[in-house]
Amino acid sequence: MDLPCPLSHAYLITGGSGDSRAALAERLTAAYLCRSPNPPCGRCRDCRKAAAGTHPDVYRAAPAPDKREVTVDQVRALRSDAYIRPNEGARKVYLIDPADAMNPAAQNALLKVLEEGPAYAAFLLCAAQPGLLLDTVRSRCELLALPPEEAPPDPALTERAAALARTLLAGDELTCVQALTALELERPKAGQLAALLSAAESQVSRELALHPRRGAQVLRALKTCRENAVYNPGAGHVLGLLATQLF
Ligand SMILES: [Zn+2]
Repeated sequence: MDLPCPLSHAYLITGGSGDSRAALAERLTAAYLCRSPNPPCGRCRDCRKAAAGTHPDVYRAAPAPDKREVTVDQVRALRSDAYIRPNEGARKVYLIDPADAMNPAAQNALLKVLEEGPAYAAFLLCAAQPGLLLDTVRSRCELLALPPEEAPPDPALTERAAALARTLLAGDELTCVQALTALELERPKAGQLAALLSAAESQVSRELALHPRRGAQVLRALKTCRENAVYNPGAGHVLGLLATQLF
């Protein structure tokens, strides 16, 4: 992913895998600190220290080894640090990964510094499930959604996606609603549903020439659902949204 330019003061990095989110956060961290004309250059002292994890202006927060949550005390410590000027660089970078491990009290503690923190402070929040973050936290960050990781095609999934695509393209309202209801009753996990809808989207785009008007409408509806599914709502919500977009 190309880095945004100019950089915002806070990003919520989601999608992809844990590794790809962390890699993007590391590049952004170096980009904040690097003072070359095209940051991150990867060669200057700031870039090298950031890559080695030894830059004094990078502050990382994650759950303690025996804990599952990022606690309010951890965020309070981060917040106090944010009001101390940078040690070496022009900026300080606060990397919270996984940010969706912050409990609500911790998120509330973060809000103030996200909103009114010093101009040199930059925040990177990595989250597999951004739906676990408070709306107020999400709205103060610019969203960077990585594309889903390419998985080897699953023949069963491809077949189901093709059947779903056929129904959505050629079925009447009742048939489509029945198909979506049957899918909802299976209670698919968010990841499974997203994979199915995304495969159906590819299938519909391949058949666009056969069903130009209906196809464009189905594609728009599937795209809206995919974007909405970033926040991991329940399957009922996603499929209900799909039905209302279609009819
Ligand atoms: Zn550099």
